[in-house]
Amino acid sequence: MTTHLGIHGSVERIFPPSLLRSRLVDGDDAPDADADLTVSVVDDDFDGIDALVTFGYDPAVLDSDVEWIHVVRAGYDEFPVETLRDDGISLTNSTGLHGASVGETTVGYFLQFARGLHRYRSDQREKEWNPPAWDETFTLEGETVCVVGLGTLGRGIARRADALGMSVVGVRRTPTPVDHVETRYGPADLHEAVEDARFVVLAVPLTDDTEGMFGAVELDAMREDAYLVNVARGPVADQSALVSALRDDAIAGAALDVFEEEPLPEESPLWAFENVVVTPHASAARSDYPDRIAELVGENVRRFERGESLANQVV
Ligand code: NDP
Repeated sequence: MTTHLGIHGSVERIFPPSLLRSRLVDGDDAPDADADLTVSVVDDDFDGIDALVTFGYDPAVLDSDVEWIHVVRAGYDEFPVETLRDDGISLTNSTGLHGASVGETTVGYFLQFARGLHRYRSDQREKEWNPPAWDETFTLEGETVCVVGLGTLGRGIARRADALGMSVVGVRRTPTPVDHVETRYGPADLHEAVEDARFVVLAVPLTDDTEGMFGAVELDAMREDAYLVNVARGPVADQSALVSALRDDAIAGAALDVFEEEPLPEESPLWAFENVVVTPHASAARSDYPDRIAELVGENVRRFERGESLANQVV
């Protein structure tokens, strides 16, 4: 069986498509010689393509012979899951790859706020020497973080926070314990979960249940000296409620990697807060990303050809 795998130009948003092609054709994770694989970089012509690796969703796949789509991100909220299911197209995602990158970025946000590093960087640009007031800094040791969503991202964050001496509580639907998490709360107890935390981290997928799950009421449940971190998807938090909470000093600050609209529009008030760290949907970035994707896609090509169930299968 010959599989024709297309790499959609949209993956350029994360890495050059040709790099993934070379990994799949010649790299360590290239499917075995007997896999008989042809790999092309494609844009909107899916003629003859059996499987598509992509960043974004293109409805043209519905009129093609594509049988399997792999999305190079963990989030697949832009993909019409039910339509794909009805059309018999399999969808796989890249969850499992981002625990270390997003985990490290997230403790980086914690450290910036605790140690005041974000302020010194701004001062440096102005050549200003501004030591902190005696009560402006704290240590992470002994502070509590509440991680909302305890999958790949949440566990990566919990492990690193625990290593820094923080207490970790978390929220997930499944009532089983998670390593490095002292107390697990269900979604119905979100308010109780966040009320003692110095940091609250959103790490859930964007679904009908999680859209807007963190709004004015949840921000109000947070301590006034607490920070919100969003590494999930923008619409999980109510952005205008967040701006109001920041203006009213109802919380101490926020680190945001994702937004309701990306890139964050120039007129957004979020750019101007000293106590807000804005990062450009970059928390998962790492230079070996194409290798990790090649490993995952290479394994699934083998399974696809053998007719086995695929790893990270959504549909
Ligand atoms: P996983 O599927 O591994 O984990 C998702 C977690 O969210 C699970 O613990 C799940 O609970 C929990 N969850 C789902 N729905 C709810 C709910 N209603 N209430 C409480 N918890 C809920 O996903 P990942 O960790 O890989 O990724 C999570 C999301 O983060 C992605 O979907 C994506 O949108 C975003 N992301 C952002 C990145 C970035 O660059 N900023 C990078 C990677 C991901 P349970 O364990 O009970 O199933």
